[in-house]
Amino acid sequence: MRSTPSTCAICGTTLEEGAAVSSPIYPFCSVRCKQIDLLRWCDGRYTVVNDMDPDLLLELGERMGDQDESPA
Ligand SMILES: [Zn+2]
Repeated sequence: MRSTPSTCAICGTTLEEGAAVSSPIYPFCSVRCKQIDLLRWCDGRYTVVNDMDPDLLLELGERMGDQDESPA
């Protein structure tokens, strides 16, 4: 079944076909982008910023990942 290609809600990377149904992190391209989105919601400071530096967002995502390493 083919579906229209979609893009990551954070960085705009094109997602794989069928990501909407096959990816647990849809609509994001990676766990990192998902964390960035969560971080935006968790921290009110970022909800008002529309054009944050992508590098800064990635950095924040990495930091969050360090703190939230769940056992596999
Ligand atoms: Zn992304």
